[in-house]
Amino acid sequence: MRAVVIHEHGDLDRLVLEDRPTPEPGPGEVRVKVVACAMNHLDTWVRRGVPGHRFPLPIVPGCDFAGTVDAIGDGVSNVALGDEVCVAPGFGCGTCEECADGDDNLCRRYGIFGETCDGGCAEFAVIPARNALPKPSRLSWEEAAAAPLAYLTAWHMVVHRAKLEPGQTVLVQAGGSGVGVAAIQIAKLLGAKVITTAGTDEKVARAVALGADVGVNYRTHDFLKEVKAWTGKAGVDVAIDHVGEPTIGKSIAALKKGGALVTCGATAGFELKTDLRLVFFKSLSILGSTMGSLGEVHDVLRLMEDGRLTPVVHSVLPLEEIREAHRILGDREVFGKVVVRP
Ligand SMILES: [Zn+2]
Repeated sequence: MRAVVIHEHGDLDRLVLEDRPTPEPGPGEVRVKVVACAMNHLDTWVRRGVPGHRFPLPIVPGCDFAGTVDAIGDGVSNVALGDEVCVAPGFGCGTCEECADGDDNLCRRYGIFGETCDGGCAEFAVIPARNALPKPSRLSWEEAAAAPLAYLTAWHMVVHRAKLEPGQTVLVQAGGSGVGVAAIQIAKLLGAKVITTAGTDEKVARAVALGADVGVNYRTHDFLKEVKAWTGKAGVDVAIDHVGEPTIGKSIAALKKGGALVTCGATAGFELKTDLRLVFFKSLSILGSTMGSLGEVHDVLRLMEDGRLTPVVHSVLPLEEIREAHRILGDREVFGKVVVRP
C-alpha cells in the first residue's frame, strides 16, 4: 500500500510517500480502507519532534480518518465488512481503573493513531474494532475524517472540563482552527454566548457566520479590551485556549471572578507567564485537557448524525500533496480542517 512515513523528525521534506506492506488485523482488530484523513497540529508535532519526547519512528502519521472496513480479525462483532466508519483517534488499555471508569484518555497506556502507532495517512490502517464507529450518514467522507479529534477535544474541554452552562460567556481563541470551529459550535449548541479571535477579517467573518456572537481580529484589535467591553468589564466565564504562549496570559486576564481557563495545546509556545494574584484573587481555575473518552466520540458523532454539529473542511488534497497539507496548517492559512485522500 502507499503510505506517508516519517523516518526522522524535521521539515516538510521528512514526509515521505512510500510503499509498505498492507497491515493485517489481529484478534479484536479491523482493517480500514482509508477514504479521507484529516490533519491536526498533532501531525506537525510528530513530524517536527517534541523536545524530551520520543515518538516510535518510523511511523505513519494521521490520527483522524474515515473509511470502509475491508478486513476483520477474530472475535469482532460490532462491525461488518463494508461498513462505513469514522475512527475514534485514541485508545486506552481497556482494563485499568481509568478505562473501567470510562476515562480512557486518562489511561497510563493511552495511545493515539499516528502518534504512538501507525495512523491513517495511508491506503489502509489497522485499528481496534471498538475504535470503528458508524460514519454519520449526512457527512461527506472529508467531513467524517475531520470530525473525531477536533470535536472530541473541544467537547471534553467545553462540556466536561469547563462545564459550560446556557447563557454563560466563553472566549474561544483561534476560532478558525479545527478545535476553535468545534468549540464555537458546541458552545452555541449549549446555549452559551461566544466571543472568538482570528488573524484575518475573513476568518472573523466566517467564525461569526458559524455562530459566534462577536469576532475579533487579534492583529488589529486588543482582544482583552474587546472582551471587557462585551462583558461590561466583568470578563468571560470560560476561556478556551490552545494557542499557548502568545495568548494564554491574556486569556486568563479575560476571565471573570470564578472563571475557568481550559487549555488543550500550545501550538505557538509552551511557557505560561501570568500574574498569580489574578488567579487567587479572582478564584480562577486553570484546567488542562487532552482528548476525551471513547464515549464522547460517540456523543459528538451522534450530534453530527442529528445535524446539530457539522465539521468545516478547508481544503482537500491528494495524499501525494501531504507536504502542502502540513504547510498550510502550519502557516495558519486554514479555516477548518485540511484533509488528504489516498
Ligand atoms: Zn487503561
